[in-house]
Amino acid sequence: MTDELFRSDAYLRDCEASILRIEEGGIVLDRTVFYPQGGGQAGDSGWLVLADGREIAIADTRKAKDAEGKAIQEIVHVPAPGQDALLDALKPGDGVKVRIDWERRHRLMRFHTATHLLCHLVPQPVNGCSITPEYARLDFHMTEPLDKEALTAGLARLVAAGHPLTVGAITDAELDANPALVKSMSVQPPRGTGTVRTIRIGEAEQIDFQPCGGTHVANTSEIGAVIVTKIEKKSANSRRVVLGWAP
Ligand SMILES: [Zn+2]
Repeated sequence: MTDELFRSDAYLRDCEASILRIEEGGIVLDRTVFYPQGGGQAGDSGWLVLADGREIAIADTRKAKDAEGKAIQEIVHVPAPGQDALLDALKPGDGVKVRIDWERRHRLMRFHTATHLLCHLVPQPVNGCSITPEYARLDFHMTEPLDKEALTAGLARLVAAGHPLTVGAITDAELDANPALVKSMSVQPPRGTGTVRTIRIGEAEQIDFQPCGGTHVANTSEIGAVIVTKIEKKSANSRRVVLGWAP
């Protein structure tokens, strides 16, 4: 199993770890700060620093899968191409220093948190989501038009208000009893431990509350200048909202 340190602290940039396994797809560690692609959020990139100081560039991070293709509690660090000599020297038990590309991850955290604010501004269910360092998009199941300027102004207001985020947990049974908490039709929150992680935005005033396994900033003020760059009619009953960084 890989201990997923980013679940309890999204601000961890590095950690010490040891190699559990080297497989065709990449390197499995006993613990990591790398977020694996999931819930619409891109996987982290960064570096594994070996004991002698040499660095393996990691291009992407994925959840490991068993023989039937089901995700298991292990995380695969996918090396960038062209590092075969470095990889051949690795063996299980080797210690490495694990370091994410923090600037890239912080952009993902800011965009990801902004998508929660969009869920407050647009209460319809979400049926698609993609979060990258350059843009984020959410697809809402709805037929009514959306106003680009009004959404950008709404986001700016919620960012300026400096609402804190709180990480919590509810049991699988509590979630089953309150299915409306899940705002996404396309992504189910990660289960398997008996509890589901929740993200609450706002203190006195609750802005958003939903189960989520991604990485977020601690306060909406940290999101900074995010704008709605495009609204598209994706289908008869789907509207796509694309977020970008303010120029
Ligand atoms: Zn989230």
